[in-house]
Amino acid sequence: MIFAHDTEVALASAAALVNTGRGGKELLGDLAALDQFVADWGWTGGRARDQAELDAVRRLRPRLERLWEMDPDAAAGLVNTLLREAGALPQLVKHDSWDYHLHAASPDAPLADRMAVEAAMAFADVIRTGQLGRLRICAAENCDNVHVDLSKNRSRRFCSVSCANRTNVAAYRTRQARQLAGAEGRSVLPRPAG
Ligand SMILES: [Zn+2]
Ligand SMILES: [Zn+2]
Repeated sequence: MIFAHDTEVALASAAALVNTGRGGKELLGDLAALDQFVADWGWTGGRARDQAELDAVRRLRPRLERLWEMDPDAAAGLVNTLLREAGALPQLVKHDSWDYHLHAASPDAPLADRMAVEAAMAFADVIRTGQLGRLRICAAENCDNVHVDLSKNRSRRFCSVSCANRTNVAAYRTRQARQLAGAEGRSVLPRPAG
């Protein structure tokens, strides 16, 4: 593990939130979609379940998205702003099946504020350990999802298993086509003349 468990979950959750609005798509189109996201990522605490809540969560996305292209000074500035805006106050808590972890917003704070604070706390860990380079864009064609590489050897290139598989299959087919072309005595790759 690179970071504490709650930090790693928060980073994955922040990337997933950003990805709901990447590449011109809108995966948080309505409250039902937000309910699903909240359930998928195990968000607890109070909910307003209204349009204002959905709008606030959507407004948070482009702010978090910018972290993927920021240098450490800019990222630190944004993290500080997010923590300050929400009046973050770190507290160790235990709940449900979770052992002690940090909450820096109260469970009845607005959902978007809690999402902002949890992401900001996690990114604070990333910045102060000099690990911003782990923030990546998926290397698969036709996918611009963001992800946080939490692998030991910093080798993760894809946002998901399906993107990794899709890319591997495409590379395999290209190799096969080349081998076939080679066996028939010609190349599919253009060769420089002379
Ligand atoms: Zn918790
Ligand atoms: Zn991808």
